[in-house]
Amino acid sequence: MKAPVKITKDSPVTVLPGVGEVKAKAYAKLGVFTLSDLLFYYPRAYEDRSTIYPLAASPADGKCAVVLVVGSEPKLVRLRSRKTFLKFRAFDESGTCEITYFNQDYLKSVFSVGSIFRFYGKVERAGKKYAMSSPAAEPWVEEAPPPPLYAVYKKTDGLTQKQIQKDVAAAMELLFGETVDPLPEEIREKRGLCDKAFALAQIHRPDGFESLNRAKNRLIYEEFFLFSLGIATTRLAEEKSYAFPLKRQNLSLLFSRLPFALTASQKTAISEICADLAKETPMRRMLVGDVGSGKTVCAAAAMLCALQNGRQAVLMAPTEILARQHFLDLSPLFEALGYKTALLLGATPAAEKRKIREGLSIGAIGLVIGTHVLLSEGVEFFAPGVVVTDEQHRFGAAQRAQLSEKNQSAHLLVMSATPIPRSLALTLYGDLDVSRLTELPPGRQRVDTYAVDETFRERVNTFIEKQVADGGQVFVICPSVEEREGGELSLSEIGAFGPEPFERPPMKAAVTHAKELAERFPDVGVACLHGRMKSKEKEAVMAAFVSGETKILVSTTVVEVGVNIPNASLMLIENAERFGLSQLHQLRGRVGRGNRKSYCILAAGQGSSEKALGRLRVLATTYDGYAIAEADLRERGPGDFLAVSEDGGVRQSGGLSFRLADAGSDLSTLLDATADAKELLQQDAALSGYPALKEELQKAFTIKTGYIS
Ligand code: ADP
Ligand code: MG
Repeated sequence: MKAPVKITKDSPVTVLPGVGEVKAKAYAKLGVFTLSDLLFYYPRAYEDRSTIYPLAASPADGKCAVVLVVGSEPKLVRLRSRKTFLKFRAFDESGTCEITYFNQDYLKSVFSVGSIFRFYGKVERAGKKYAMSSPAAEPWVEEAPPPPLYAVYKKTDGLTQKQIQKDVAAAMELLFGETVDPLPEEIREKRGLCDKAFALAQIHRPDGFESLNRAKNRLIYEEFFLFSLGIATTRLAEEKSYAFPLKRQNLSLLFSRLPFALTASQKTAISEICADLAKETPMRRMLVGDVGSGKTVCAAAAMLCALQNGRQAVLMAPTEILARQHFLDLSPLFEALGYKTALLLGATPAAEKRKIREGLSIGAIGLVIGTHVLLSEGVEFFAPGVVVTDEQHRFGAAQRAQLSEKNQSAHLLVMSATPIPRSLALTLYGDLDVSRLTELPPGRQRVDTYAVDETFRERVNTFIEKQVADGGQVFVICPSVEEREGGELSLSEIGAFGPEPFERPPMKAAVTHAKELAERFPDVGVACLHGRMKSKEKEAVMAAFVSGETKILVSTTVVEVGVNIPNASLMLIENAERFGLSQLHQLRGRVGRGNRKSYCILAAGQGSSEKALGRLRVLATTYDGYAIAEADLRERGPGDFLAVSEDGGVRQSGGLSFRLADAGSDLSTLLDATADAKELLQQDAALSGYPALKEELQKAFTIKTGYIS
């Protein structure tokens, strides 16, 4: 007989009744392997069943809750296919609704005439009549109404909503009493935070808005706290480590090959960087400069410095597109100087990957450019001298911490076009030294910016036409579409007293919008690019746009960072109200990179308020990245400054994920968490008095290769 296995949070999901290998595979696709993963698989939204609609006022799109009295005996109809359906009428003061259930004969006795139920589902209209098909039903007692909110999870093939709900509940039951709270009690008390078990229970099965809100606040705090602890401990370790000093040698070998002269601020930044490199403590410097200010050259100088000192150089970019572009720009320069270069991407064929890994480990490759694949296990450097990350704001600070841990003795340069407000810099980066590029290269022009609403659609189209006719190219950016149905609330819309008022205009989805534009401009090449495309497809689409074969590129924010198309003269952003101002500013920086007079149009979606438009108009008059970043932080909280994965997928910075951080988190929570983390480390730097916390921290900051490759 098999000994009974003790079930722990690390048990695989297959210990749950009804979950076998097939379902486990489906869960794996969602990143859920263990029971604990399941508990941390937070709902993507909640069904609001607390707002009761009269039938006559039920929304035309999406689901809603209605409270109805059963008005007729349910009739069971047998179909020839052996299927059955159950049919009855139910009514409220405003109308009558026909309700149907399929293959659920047993419900016949449940819906007795005169009984009252809360039904949740889509109300269809058939003339004056209403109809609902298989709505969720719960007996309605006015004084003790059923739960107001139901969790909705992100699904995948092979797993239904019901299945996930059931499994989460089962996992919760199995682990009952096992949840150890990583947050020190004194901190919980000081900040008025509920305990972990309560928070997890409420996030999945909320008793009401108030308790869900408390759960949310607590979990957000914890994410911030772990994050701050991780950054602070990394920084402590860095300060103690040794780096191989890199003496400045002959950088003009590089500069003389450039078709331009360096700007004064590039020269200053390069001297600051070189001064750091020459020291025996590892450089931890951030280079901030608006898009187009010429950060890449500064990175190249640092990397050359490493190579000239017999060390290796690493450049990590947040997207494959950007990594490729850097490689195309830099590889010829460095190869001409006699250094072997390589490009390492997730999409690189396995055999080639192996070869590159070997080249890196024996030092045969001097410069490697790639994505976060460079962080994965098995990628070892022979003698790393300088590690550069580009567009750091897209990576997140936790990845920087990982990078630093992996290459403790290397000098690190992080580059970002997003100026980080001072108040955040300390938290996010553990206080790096900062160099700034304050001027744009000569000849750059300002991108004229306009905020418009839907009434301008035709004029916008005419403008696109004109740009293309003049030989320019057009970017059209659409927000990435989330799965979300009418009637559902996301966590950010939940406050202690109910749903927060929230604008949600309908969105333009990249794929459908590209189709519309292709119809509108039949003679012009229109292409579409989004995060769910295969790497090869993306590459082909991008190549066609670079070559000028396609004139209009409709895309999600995958093009946000770094891509250089000098011929692009118009950046049109749809549903611009959905983006942070900093992000819009970044996107705007994609145009105006060549000689063409360039424009940015921020199109607010249908139903956007005057306030939303006003917010967008700020960009029409402001070009100062810092001012824009500060405004963003005030308005939207710190969420935008934390890492967002490409195309808005799961927020993840290596092992540490901000699952909830932008669900209504505010700056003060982040600052509180940072202060608390610092204080705790001062008392107990090794966290020896807090084993549960230490374990969480180690988990959060370890590289999860499963995600990376
Ligand atoms: P970013 O700071 O956004 O990364 P890049 O490094 O991509 O900017 O530079 C943008 C463009 O400007 C590139 O085409 C680059 O070759 C060019 N560039 C960089 N420095 C200068 C300069 N000093 N004078 C003229 N052009 C420059
Ligand atoms: Mg760049």
